[in-house]
Amino acid sequence: MIRRMTLFDAVVIGGGQSGLAAAGALQAHGRHPLVLEAGGAPTGSWARYYDSLTLFSPARHSALPGMPFPGDPDRYPHRDEVVAYLAAYAEHLGVPIRTRSRVTSVQQASDGFTVHTDADTLHTPIIVAATGGFGRPHRPDLPGLATYTGTVLHAADYRSPTPFSGQHVIVVGAGNSAVQIATELATVATVTLATRQPVRWFPQRPLGRDLHWWLKTTGLDTSPLGRLLAGGHRGAPVLDDGRYRAAVAAGAPRHRLMFTGLHGNTATWTDGSREDVHAIVLATGYRPDLGYLHELGALDADGRPRHRGGVSITHPGLGYVGLELQRSFASATLRGVGADAARVVARLTARRTSQVEPAR
Ligand code: FAD
Repeated sequence: MIRRMTLFDAVVIGGGQSGLAAAGALQAHGRHPLVLEAGGAPTGSWARYYDSLTLFSPARHSALPGMPFPGDPDRYPHRDEVVAYLAAYAEHLGVPIRTRSRVTSVQQASDGFTVHTDADTLHTPIIVAATGGFGRPHRPDLPGLATYTGTVLHAADYRSPTPFSGQHVIVVGAGNSAVQIATELATVATVTLATRQPVRWFPQRPLGRDLHWWLKTTGLDTSPLGRLLAGGHRGAPVLDDGRYRAAVAAGAPRHRLMFTGLHGNTATWTDGSREDVHAIVLATGYRPDLGYLHELGALDADGRPRHRGGVSITHPGLGYVGLELQRSFASATLRGVGADAARVVARLTARRTSQVEPAR
């Protein structure tokens, strides 16, 4: 097969909110980026998140640079509204986006990088890797999980409670997704929320204002200091308007500390009691999926990017947008990627004073 080699002055890998924010920032610096998106639309992973998902931030704090989120700014938009918003944002930017174009590897070239997709080979001096911090579902090594005979699925594959009607389900995890999924499942199933530590709650509206108003007003949201809010290895607390805490207090879902083992389809709890369980939902987080940068040598042994504030410390010209806690508490959110993209792109373009002739 003869492959075309085309020159672009910047390539953005990933067409979700992070990729679009990066493309917008590159345009603002006079570049002509090409966005490569593996899926069929520049709307990121949103359409694959569970059906009932609504944003934890109100519309006014969920927008990308230059285009407000439409509708009542104080409401918490549904997943499908985010998909529609991102599609409209891509139109608004007007950058070329190649969908169904998965990057398979990146190599160092004499003045930049060679980018391989399933169909093309491109050359560029600047790459922004924006394939999300949530591409690789994390499955912890729980005692007995490997031999458990019931259904095991990651929250990434959970859509709605319907298939679990009448079952006993354990949801593992202490974060927002775990609590939301467990509470929703508890309307049709017997649900146990299993956590290693007690669940930590945070009010959605302290002193009558949405938390995101406070974060923005104090500057904590985009300050590196705000990373402390993420709770370190314990993870961010669960945002609650009172609904979830009340559900757990009412036992639907019931909360227990993590089971000590699984045998067949039975879970053993810390007090020695045993229960049959039909399904286990792992709401245990995600890791970035940057395998296409492996050959380049930009990742550490665990597959995590080696960077400072989103700028690669291994390869000049390579940057990242959308990594969790990349620079601040808000880095991997709709409201945070714009500021990160602007910073990363400013640093990438500053060292590239000579422009290459973009492809037409
Ligand atoms: P993604 O949306 O994952 O987009 C990455 C894109 O890259 C995808 O379209 C993918 O197809 C593409 N891609 C991947 N690999 C390749 C490749 N090799 N080549 C080309 N393209 C590739 N944030 C909020 O602000 N508010 C919320 O309420 C909120 N709720 C969340 C709920 C859940 C369950 C999760 C998991 C996250 C939530 N987030 C929320 C966090 C974050 O905003 C989302 O995860 C968001 O989808 C991240 O956007 P992204 O563009 O960084 O990554």
